Amino acid sequence: MTHYVIIGFGCAGYYAAKTIRNNDPNGLISVYSEHSYAPYNPMLTTYYVSGKIPFEGLFPFGSLEDITKELNLDMHAECTVDKILADEKEIVLKTGEHVSYDKLLIATGASAFAPRFEGLDPQDAFYMRTIDDAIKLREALEQRTYKNALVVGASMVGIKVVELLNNRGIHTVFADMATRIFPLAAYPEISTEIEERISKKGIQLALGSALQKAEKTEDGYHCYMSDGSAIDVDLIVLCIGTRANTKVANPEEIKINRAFVVDHGMATSHPDIFAAGDCCEGTELQSQNTMIIGLWANAAHQGTTAGANMTGKPAEFDGNFLHNITHFMDMDFIGFGDNRLTGEVLTSGNIHDGLYVQAVIKDHQLVGVNILDNYRISVAIKNFLYQVMEKHTAEISPMQKGILIKEGLKPSFIEKLEGNFNV
Ligand SMILES: Cc1cc2nc3c(=O)[nH]c(=O)nc-3n(C[C@H](O)[C@H](O)[C@H](O)COP(=O)(O)OP(=O)(O)OC[C@H]3O[C@@H](n4cnc5c(N)ncnc54)[C@H](O)[C@@H]3O)c2cc1C
Repeated sequence: MTHYVIIGFGCAGYYAAKTIRNNDPNGLISVYSEHSYAPYNPMLTTYYVSGKIPFEGLFPFGSLEDITKELNLDMHAECTVDKILADEKEIVLKTGEHVSYDKLLIATGASAFAPRFEGLDPQDAFYMRTIDDAIKLREALEQRTYKNALVVGASMVGIKVVELLNNRGIHTVFADMATRIFPLAAYPEISTEIEERISKKGIQLALGSALQKAEKTEDGYHCYMSDGSAIDVDLIVLCIGTRANTKVANPEEIKINRAFVVDHGMATSHPDIFAAGDCCEGTELQSQNTMIIGLWANAAHQGTTAGANMTGKPAEFDGNFLHNITHFMDMDFIGFGDNRLTGEVLTSGNIHDGLYVQAVIKDHQLVGVNILDNYRISVAIKNFLYQVMEKHTAEISPMQKGILIKEGLKPSFIEKLEGNFNV
C-alpha cells in the first residue's frame, strides 16, 4: 500500500487528496495541516470580514469531518510539519516525530509578508491572508469604532480591505511606494481612472509613499511616510504581498527560487516530492519562465496534476499566465498578461463610462489586455490569450465573438485583437 503524505490542506492539498483517492482507493493518504479548519478559500476572507458571507461560506468543500470521511484520509489537524528529510523520505513534525512516506506533496501555500516597521509591533498590525487574519480584523471592527485607517499595499487584496473599511465609514488612506494603483496588472491610463474613481468615494490615496515608521499615540499611531508626510490612524492593515511557505524544505535537497520549482507534472527537483499551489513556481506561459501564480484555479489544477502523478497516472499542466479578475467599489477590473510588454495599443469604448478595453499587440499577437467594467467578456478574451500563448496562433470562436459584439466590442476591434490590421 502506497503511503501518500500531503503537507498543507488548502485548495492545492484538497484537489491532490481528491485525485489520489479517485486513482488509488486503497492508498494511505496522511494530511498534515497546521490548523483545524477545513480547506478554505482565502479570496473570500474579506467578504467574511465585511459580513457579506457567513463563516461557513469560507469552506467550499464542506466540513473537515465530512471531507476526511469522504476521501478516507488519515487527517492530522493542528499538526505542523517542521521539516522534510528528502534523502531519508521522511517528514519531521513539530512534536519531533518522524513519519516516512512513499510520495510527498508540499502544498503549504503562502503567508502575508510582514516586514518590521520601527514602532509597530507586527502583532498590532492586521493582515489579510488566513482565516485567522480575517477573524482578528472582524472582531477588532466589532469591538471598537475605528475612525482612521492606513492600508499599505495598493494590490488586489489591499483594495478589498480598503472597500470594506470605507463601507464602515472609516476614513481610509491607501498607501503604496508604487506611484500608481495595481502597478503589476493595470496599464497606466487604467490606474489613473481607478485612482480617480476611488478618490471620489472618499479614499485618500498616498501613492509613491511608503510607511517608514510609526509612533504609538493614545489611540493609535502617528505614521511617518517616505514622502515626508505623516498620518494619524487608529488601524493599520498591511497588504504588502505574500511569500511562499518554503521553510519546511532544505534548498540543498529541493530546488527553491522564490518558491519550489516544479515541472509540468508538478514534480520538484527531488524524486517522489511534488509541490502545488502558492508554494510553487510552475511554468508561466508568456515568459516561459517558472513563476508563482497565486490564483485559486491555478492551485486547483496544480493539485489535481500532482495528485495524478503521485499515483503513477501521468498528467501535465502546461502552465498559466498572469491574470486578475476583480470586482470592487462598483467596478470590475480585469488584467491579462504581462503589463510591461509594449507594442501597438488598441482601445475600445469610453474609459469613464461602460465597457472599456485596452489591448497591446506585439508582432501581430495579443500580449496583454485590461478591461474595465465588464467581467462578461473576460472568459472569451482569457481563452483567446491562453491559446495565443500556447500555440502562438488563435482565432476567437464565432460564439465568443458573438458575446464580445453583444457586450459592445466592434467587429473591426475584434479582428485587430486577433492580429488582423487589414480591416
Ligand atoms: C484576500 C485574498 C484575495 C484573493 N483573491 C483571489 C482572486 O480574486 N482570484 C484568485 O484566483 N485567487 C485569489 N487569491 C489567491 C488564492 O486564494 C490562492 O492562490 C489559493 O488559495 C492558494 O491555495 P494553496 O492551497 O496553494 O494555499 P493556501 O490556501 O495558503 O493553503 C496552504 C495551507 O498549508 C498550511 N501549511 C503551511 N505550512 C504548513 C506546515 N508546515 N505544516 C502544516 N500545514 C501547513 C497553511 O496553514 C494553509 O492552510 C486571493 C488570496 C487572498 C488572501
